[in-house]
Amino acid sequence: MPELSVMIKATATCNLSCRYCYESNRPDGRGSILDTPRLTKFIAQVMDYVADVGAVSFGWQGGEPLTQGLDAFRRVVSRQAACAHRGTVISNDIQTNGTLIDDDWAALFAEYAFLVGLSLDGPEEIHDSMRTARSGAPTFALVRAGLEHLLAAGVDTNALCVVGPHNVERAGELYEFFASTGLEHLQVMPAMKFPAKRPEAPADFWITPEQYGRFLCELFDAWYGLSGEPKMSVQPFDAFLQSYLGAPAGLCLFSHRCDGGLVVAEDGFVYPCDFHQAAPFRLGRIGTDSIAALVSSARYVDFVGQKSPPANRCKECPWFQHCRGGCPRFSRGTAHGADFFCQAYRSLFEHADRRLRLLRYRFQSSLG
Ligand code: SF4
Ligand code: SF4
Repeated sequence: MPELSVMIKATATCNLSCRYCYESNRPDGRGSILDTPRLTKFIAQVMDYVADVGAVSFGWQGGEPLTQGLDAFRRVVSRQAACAHRGTVISNDIQTNGTLIDDDWAALFAEYAFLVGLSLDGPEEIHDSMRTARSGAPTFALVRAGLEHLLAAGVDTNALCVVGPHNVERAGELYEFFASTGLEHLQVMPAMKFPAKRPEAPADFWITPEQYGRFLCELFDAWYGLSGEPKMSVQPFDAFLQSYLGAPAGLCLFSHRCDGGLVVAEDGFVYPCDFHQAAPFRLGRIGTDSIAALVSSARYVDFVGQKSPPANRCKECPWFQHCRGGCPRFSRGTAHGADFFCQAYRSLFEHADRRLRLLRYRFQSSLG
């Protein structure tokens, strides 16, 4: 059996109301998949499915997954351990806004080696201009406190920085800020707003490709530094470097296939992608359908292969082998048929190609 990666939307409920959230049109209080018989059965099915390959990765998202409480996650990890076949390596990662993290959460994440994705958009004034509580109150201080708990417990933590009008012109400053926090991983993604349940509708992007291109180039300069010895792992640069080294990019966005794994919504229905949670893409339901049936369904196979053939613009693009056409979801409604941020990626490759090839050379030389 192949490796399996499962992303579970633990709940649609969130304690914040970020201005650009693409989930923010969804009603609150729609319950949780945690502690349901469906999830209990599904975890056992997953462990059986991966018994041969011996590795599985669970991602937990929301809404805000921590609103479901520490005990619910304790039961999840206990269930994983109880159902795993001997020798199975279980990975868990969780995406959180960080406002609810205390010592107990940090201890749980440390004990079970969770990778925590922390939503943080930069220094206080930048972060608080977008990421607010439902009351409108700022959240930076809470997130910063959550980060301190994670760092003190030694939890592997990745900052997820959404790039919007509030920070797109300040890439260098952002890099300095994140480098000063003690974090070793940073991921950036452009702000966009679209109904997750209507994937056919073009997204409402908050920054232009030109802005994002300038942002990526400036961030790359800061990341590469004067000596070409990056001190943090930064996505998407890591993905591009992997591609330059001839390895899979590790991000569906820059892979030749849309195979990011299975996405389980909070009602138990399964989709092939977080951005495609609509009936035409529905694969089945956990607890009802077997995993083999989900991943061998015609819908899944078609979805995974949707980047072939690439858009005409991509076929002639000198950067195609590294970009792979970006995300089909972001191509909807664009005049050129490629990813909305195509020009941003082209700018970055033109700007960074020589240094990415230098990093590849250094890495290969270090292997002897
Ligand atoms: S840079 Fe643009 S044209 Fe080139 S592969 Fe990426 S999306 Fe396609
Ligand atoms: S549609 Fe976009 S987000 Fe979804 S799997 Fe494909 S590249 Fe990834």
